[in-house]
This record gives sequence, structure tokens and C-alpha cells, in this order.
Amino acid sequence: MKAKKRYGQNFLIDSYYINRIIETINVFSNDLIIEIGPGKGALTKLLKEKKVELRAYEIDLDLKPILDPLNDELTHIYYQDFLQVKDFPLDRNIIIVGNLPYYITTPILEHIIDENINPKKIIIMVQKEVADRFLAQPHTKEYGYFTIWLNHFFKTEKIVDVPPKAFNPPPKVTSTILKLTRKSLPDIDLKKYQKLLQDSFKQKRKTLKNNLSNYDWLKIKEVLDSFNLKENVRAEELREEVYLAILNKME
Ligand code: SAM
Repeated sequence: MKAKKRYGQNFLIDSYYINRIIETINVFSNDLIIEIGPGKGALTKLLKEKKVELRAYEIDLDLKPILDPLNDELTHIYYQDFLQVKDFPLDRNIIIVGNLPYYITTPILEHIIDENINPKKIIIMVQKEVADRFLAQPHTKEYGYFTIWLNHFFKTEKIVDVPPKAFNPPPKVTSTILKLTRKSLPDIDLKKYQKLLQDSFKQKRKTLKNNLSNYDWLKIKEVLDSFNLKENVRAEELREEVYLAILNKME
């Protein structure tokens, strides 16, 4: 079967990297593993050996003859666009795994956050450039709204970089395996917080003050003063702690 570019199909063939993903996953008997994009089943076959319920979502119906034989009482393959899936059990410990289709990496993570799936771990392969943004520190050009938003929910760690030759067909870019671990969350208005972050980074070249011209600047200045920050700071200079303090001041 010819790999489909439009579905981001780069199948992982190097068992060293397949095992690096699998060995990162520790399960308890009642856990539920959700796999995004099982492809030809390279990860699915080994995930089955964890002997817990496994739900895998694959968009490409042409992979049915390869994937259907993997179904059993614990493993269920669904032929669905993961971004459309909404019926996640909210009372289970969930671990999400996937060598993601790179064209929708961020939408997938947004979907996981928006649908409150609340997984305890996410082990994913993403494009290295995207991983660098997720792992970025303040004062770097990679640090942006989504860095802070994602790291609000999950501690983000790099497992290993993966060269193109580990895939068939090889992608044009280096990839990275990431481990995301759920954090305990402060009790805040998430909608307001997301808007504050998005507004702060609206125009990267502008100062925070310019981007937040619709906000009560005197209150924000008080917060900046308390962190010894100058009034002309830019959004990428602030740690999450400062944004949370600004949100708190606005309430
Ligand atoms: N897990 C396999 C592996 O490691 O070899 C395949 C990985 S491949 C990079 C991404 C897989 O995601 C493909 O099988 C592709 O068809 C599937 N896919 C793409 N978009 C999807 C979507 N919206 N929902 C579910 N699966 C999707």
C-alpha cells in the first residue's frame, strides 16, 4: 500500500525507536490506552502486550485489512478522524500514544485539552521543530502562546530525537518523541486565561503593553513591578507564573 501524504503517513520501521515509545508507557490494570493513527500497527501490536483496553483511531479505511486482525476483546480499532471523536470516558485513567500525523499535531493536542480527556500521560512523536516549541523557555523565539498553554496542563519532556531513516517513507524532517505528564491544575477560569495568553502574543514584535491595550494596564504594571519586570517587556519574556498572577489581578 502506498503511503498517503495527505494523511501524514510516515510509518515507523526502526524497532529501536518503536521500543523507546513502548518502554515509556507503564500501565495499571484499569488504564485505557488511546492510540492516534495506528497506521500499519507498528505500535499497536506492542501496545496490545500491555494487556489493558486499547482504543485506536485511524482515519484511513484502506488500512482496514492490516488493522482489523488486531481487534480482540481488549483492542478496538475505530476508523474515524480523531479530531471528531468526542465520546471519551472521563472516569478512566487514560494514556494517549501516537506517532502523530504532523500536519495536525497542534489541533490534536488542542482537541485533547478541549475535550477534557485529561490523560495522565501522552507519549507522542512529533516534528522536532514543533517539539522545540513545546519545550521552549522564555526569551527564545520558539516560546509562544501554545508553549505556555500546553505546559499549563502537562510537564513536557523530550525522550529522544528520531532521524528520517527510522520511517518509511522517510519524512523531510527530524522527529522527536515527547512525554507529557498531567499536572495538577490551579482553580482558574481557563477561557479567560487562554484569551489572556493569546492576546499577549497577538503580535510578537509588539510589547506586552501594546498587545494588551484593551486591559487595565495599571493592574498589569503592579504585577510586573512585583516580579521586577520593566513596563516594556514582551510576551516571550514572561514565565507562566507571571501570566497567572496577571489573571489573578484581573479577577
Ligand atoms: N502509528 C503508525 C506508525 O508509527 O508507523 C503510523 C504513523 S503515521 C505518522 C500517522 C497515522 O495517522 C497514519 O496512519 C494516518 O493515516 C493517521 N491519521 C492521519 N490523520 C488522522 C486523523 N485525523 N485521525 C486519525 N488518524 C489519522
